[in-house]
Amino acid sequence: MTRVVQKFGGSSVADAESIKRVARRVLATKQEGHDVVVVISAMGDTTDELMDLALQVSPLPAPRELDMLLTTGERQSAALLAMALSDLGSEARSYTGSQAGVITTGKHGDARIIDITPGRIESALAAGHVVIVAGFQGVAQDTKDITTLGRGASDTTAVALAAALGAEYCEIYTDVDGIFTADPRIVPSARQVPEISYEEMMEMAASGAKVLHLRCVEYARRENVPVHVRSSFSTRPGTWVRDINLTNRKESSMEQALISGVAHDRNEAKITIVGVPDKVGMAARIFSAIAQADINIDMIVQNQSVTETSRTDISFSLPMGDGRRAMETLDALKDKIGYSELLFDDQIGKVSVVGVGMKSHPGVTAKFFSALAEANVNIHMISTSEIRISVVVSAEDVDTAVRAAHTAFGLDAEGEAVVYAGTGR
Ligand code: ASP
Ligand code: MG
Repeated sequence: MTRVVQKFGGSSVADAESIKRVARRVLATKQEGHDVVVVISAMGDTTDELMDLALQVSPLPAPRELDMLLTTGERQSAALLAMALSDLGSEARSYTGSQAGVITTGKHGDARIIDITPGRIESALAAGHVVIVAGFQGVAQDTKDITTLGRGASDTTAVALAAALGAEYCEIYTDVDGIFTADPRIVPSARQVPEISYEEMMEMAASGAKVLHLRCVEYARRENVPVHVRSSFSTRPGTWVRDINLTNRKESSMEQALISGVAHDRNEAKITIVGVPDKVGMAARIFSAIAQADINIDMIVQNQSVTETSRTDISFSLPMGDGRRAMETLDALKDKIGYSELLFDDQIGKVSVVGVGMKSHPGVTAKFFSALAEANVNIHMISTSEIRISVVVSAEDVDTAVRAAHTAFGLDAEGEAVVYAGTGR
């Protein structure tokens, strides 16, 4: 008997009917002769709604209590799915992350999985049950408090369980047919890719593609778990994320696309520190303080001053949610550093082109920037890696920039991509 882990996202279990539909799908897999472990997300936009509710009660909810609250969403859908399966004549047991043995660090809202002790899952499987695990949660090793693993992290739960249980692969069911060359909600002509390497998918996820959680892809790569991303609304084959020998791929297709996808991210903000004295140690001082505040920055832009003022501006981008903390941290440094002004801009977005093809091809940057220029999009910041080029643009230009890049790199397909459900929230 092979083991399969199947994860169903919130839009696949948005209401009672869809829960029954998912139950039939799970049962079909079980009847093919597999041991099935299901990881489930909260119904529809439940997590967002619980978050809104918490903020109505308290402007700064205690992280421990927020985790207690948010994990109830997954608990609901897990129990409901178990009921639906049992009505179909299939014994099923639902478990919270903690019961399933998902042991994590203690950082509420952003805990990491340290270990999985799947004793109860093993016994339930041995008894012939379908196992359903509430996604995105665990229990802190030291405090024994309930933790969450970050937004969208049910994907990570699924891959971690697949690795711990020695499953052959992990299926991630979502509201689109697989991984596309861009978000089909923005680019209807986006094309589905049959497979993508862990490396490319990691860059896509890190650049804002929400179809898979970044840590899920990192985990899958480390443990070498093949991930099949597909739709719960159709039976079409989806996209495989797996170890791909990139040299083979290049040789096999004559016209290998330079770019495998265009990703975007609207969750960043930009801070500019105006008039920083251009002397040794300033950047170190600024970014040490930012690091101490536990803020992950993304892009940085600084130039040497050429005017006789000997002052320069430093801009950097960071997750929008960390904006306030970063501004307070920098404000406290004002006299020590002697800059003149701090500017905060959350009306920005990041657009990235990703592809291993660009490694060996000069001119990708020029093509990308020309496409943006033709679309009349102004670039605020630029950063690159070996297989990615990202730009920060005004929030209102994000859609235009994504479409322009998608067309410029010849990624447009003939037909329209299907979006079955979900708000893309
Ligand atoms: N329900 C959680 C969220 O909305 C986790 C997940 O869906 O993966 O972020
Ligand atoms: Mg998701």
